[in-house]
Amino acid sequence: LIRFDKVVKRFGGNTVLDELDFSVDSGKHVTLIGPSGSGKTTILRLLMTLIKPDEGTIKVNGDYLTHEEKAGTLVPAGEKHIREVRKNIGMVFQQFNLFPNMKVLRNIMEAPVTVLGLSKDEAEQRARELLDMVGLGDRCDAYPTQLSGGQQQRVAIARALAMRPQVLLLDEVTSALDPELVAGVLDVLRDIAHTTDITMLCVTHEMNFARDISDQVLMFDAGRVIESGSPEKIFSDPEHERTREFLSAVL
Ligand code: ATP
Repeated sequence: LIRFDKVVKRFGGNTVLDELDFSVDSGKHVTLIGPSGSGKTTILRLLMTLIKPDEGTIKVNGDYLTHEEKAGTLVPAGEKHIREVRKNIGMVFQQFNLFPNMKVLRNIMEAPVTVLGLSKDEAEQRARELLDMVGLGDRCDAYPTQLSGGQQQRVAIARALAMRPQVLLLDEVTSALDPELVAGVLDVLRDIAHTTDITMLCVTHEMNFARDISDQVLMFDAGRVIESGSPEKIFSDPEHERTREFLSAVL
């Protein structure tokens, strides 16, 4: 479903991703781990087309995200093409990024109505179902600032899912939360991982969560995948010295 082919991303003279190859199959849950600055967030931002690669190609669901085919040749993708491919992808950020001036229900309805063209009734029904799923069915009329950080993040998850993306990108979604609010958010995500067929690509420092939900864990260092495998393998019997060092520092 997702394929990175020799992707290079530089910021100034700093090569953050160095000919990165990796792929994620449909329905799988893949977690990216590795030291700070190793390029994990950059991968999610590339997929959201917030930034563009300097070299290489990214495919989502068989379509190039970075390029489009015109008259048999690959040319850099135009805005329309990028928007179409990106409809497959939802993202939840560390900061919840809810619309502060909209009630919770409208936060979730907004994009399905404006981007997907759903009727208000359809969007509202979808939003209410999702709010029930994240345990906030009774907070439809609250404004974001009236909710705890954990509740806001659960709304952000519902908002991402309202677009029915094939892929959910999760970027350290509990890092900005008070410790007592982390478990509620992770429980919601575990539930989604175990009960839906959505593909997940997740950057997290919550290793127990990664162990619970992942089909595959990729260990990054300096812009490359240095080791990958099942969570059992990576967490219990890593092969690479850098992986061992990293895990002993975070576990
Ligand atoms: P963390 O766990 O700390 O979030 P990460 O593995 O997600 O780390 P990235 O956020 O992908 O790492 O950043 C990789 C490198 O790219 C870092 O050295 C960072 O400073 C640099 N970087 C990221 N975004 C930019 C930018 N917009 N401009 C310049 N440098 C950037």
